[in-house]
Amino acid sequence: MTLVVQKYGGTSVADPDRIKAVADHIVATRRSGAEVLAVVSAMGRTTDELEQLAFDVSSTPSARELDMLLTAGERISIALLCMAIIDRGEHAVSFTGSQAGILTDTTHGRAKIVEVRAERLRETLAAGSIAVVAGFQGVSTSSDVTTLGRGGSDTTAVALAAALGADACEIYTDVAGVFTADPRLVPAARRLDRVSYEEMLDLAATGGRVLALRSVEFARNYHVPVHVRSSFTWEPGTWVGEEDPSMEQAIISGVTYDVTEAKVTIVGVPDRPGIAARLFRTLADENVNVDMIVQNVSSAGQTDISFTVPRDDLARTRKVTDTIVEDLEARGVTHDADIGRVSIVGAGMKTNPGIAATMFEVLAHESVNIEMISTSSIRISCVVAARDVERSVRALHRALQLEAG
Ligand code: ADP
Ligand code: ASP
Ligand code: MG
Repeated sequence: MTLVVQKYGGTSVADPDRIKAVADHIVATRRSGAEVLAVVSAMGRTTDELEQLAFDVSSTPSARELDMLLTAGERISIALLCMAIIDRGEHAVSFTGSQAGILTDTTHGRAKIVEVRAERLRETLAAGSIAVVAGFQGVSTSSDVTTLGRGGSDTTAVALAAALGADACEIYTDVAGVFTADPRLVPAARRLDRVSYEEMLDLAATGGRVLALRSVEFARNYHVPVHVRSSFTWEPGTWVGEEDPSMEQAIISGVTYDVTEAKVTIVGVPDRPGIAARLFRTLADENVNVDMIVQNVSSAGQTDISFTVPRDDLARTRKVTDTIVEDLEARGVTHDADIGRVSIVGAGMKTNPGIAATMFEVLAHESVNIEMISTSSIRISCVVAARDVERSVRALHRALQLEAG
C-alpha cells in the first residue's frame, strides 16, 4: 500500500477549525487507500509564546528545561488532531518524538537525529491506524527530551518518511509551494513546479525558510520525494527531487535573504601560516557555526579576517575573539549586527557566465554597498547593510525577470 507522510506547520493547525480541516484531509487521504503518517507542529505561535515564558522567568533558561517546555507545544497538537480524526470515524494514535522512536544526540536546542526506531509506528500503520507524530522533538542518547531547532518539524517528517520508505513526504504550509522569492516580500514571486535537492539546499541554507535545511539534507541523502504545498488551497505545489537532466534548467531558481547573522572582523592579524586554523578551531570548539569567511590581501605583514556567525552566537563569538586577539597579537575586533545576506540560487549558473556581474550591477544600481561576497557553483551571496536587504531582494527578482507570467 502507498504510504504518505504529511507534515502540517503551525499556521496549518493554528485553531480548532484549522485542525478540523487538516483532519478532513488526512481522513480523505486514508480513505483513498493510502497509509498516512502525519507530523504536526505546535499551534500558531505557541513555540514563540512558550519561549517568551521561559525568558520571563529566567534570563538564561536551562537548555534542558527549555526543550522540555517547547516540546509541550507539539504535544497539544497531536492529541487534538487525533481527537478530530477519531471523530470522523478513523483510528488515530498520537506519539511524542520519544514514543515515535526518534533518537537524537544530546545537543539541546538543535539536536541531530542519530537513529529512527520506527517499529511502533510501523505496527500502528499496519493495524490500519493513522499515526500522528509530534514534530521537532526526540529523545537523546542519554534519555532527555530534545528539540531539533526552529522549523524542525520538517526534519521529523522527512526523517520518518526515509525510515519508513514512504512514497512521498508532503509538507503542508501557508504558501502554495517554493517560490522564486519569499512571496510575503515579493508578491510577484512565481511558484516553482520542481526544484532539485541541490538548489533547495542552497535556498534553505540562505534563508528560504519554507523547508528547514536539515530536512532537505535528509531528503537528498535518502532520496525522499518532497512535495511542498498549501493546506489552505490544497492545490499541487512544488516537488523537490533529483535534478532532471532532460529538463531545461532555469538559470536562477530564486532570490533569498537572511537577516539572522552578524559580521565579526579581526583587524591587523599577523599574516603567517596557522592563524586562521587557530581562530576557527577555537570557534568550532565553542560550537559556533561560522558561515562566510573573507580574508583581505595583506599589507605590511598584516591582514583583516571577517566572518559571519548567527547573531545568537555573537556574545560567545566575541568572548573567543577577544581572548584570541591578544594571543595572535592582532590589533582588535569589531562586529556589526546590522547586516543581512542576499543570495541568488540556480543550477543554470554553472553554465551561464556573467550572473555574478549582473547581481553586482543590480546592487550597484540600487546604491547598495557589498560588504562581503561568497559563491558556490550554484549560488552567489552578498552581505549588505540590513536596511538594504529587502530593496535588494526586490530589485534582483525584478532584474532577473523571475516574476509570474
Ligand atoms: P510552517 O509553519 O508551515 O512550517 P514556515 O513559516 O516555516 O511555515 O514556512 C513558510 C513560510 O516560508 C512562508 O509563509 C513564506 O513567507 C516563507 N518563505 C521564505 N522564502 C520562501 C520561498 N522561497 N518560497 C515560499 N515560501 C517562502
Ligand atoms: N514548532 C516549532 C517551531 O515553531 C517547530 C516547527 O514548527 O517546525 O519552530
Ligand atoms: Mg517551517
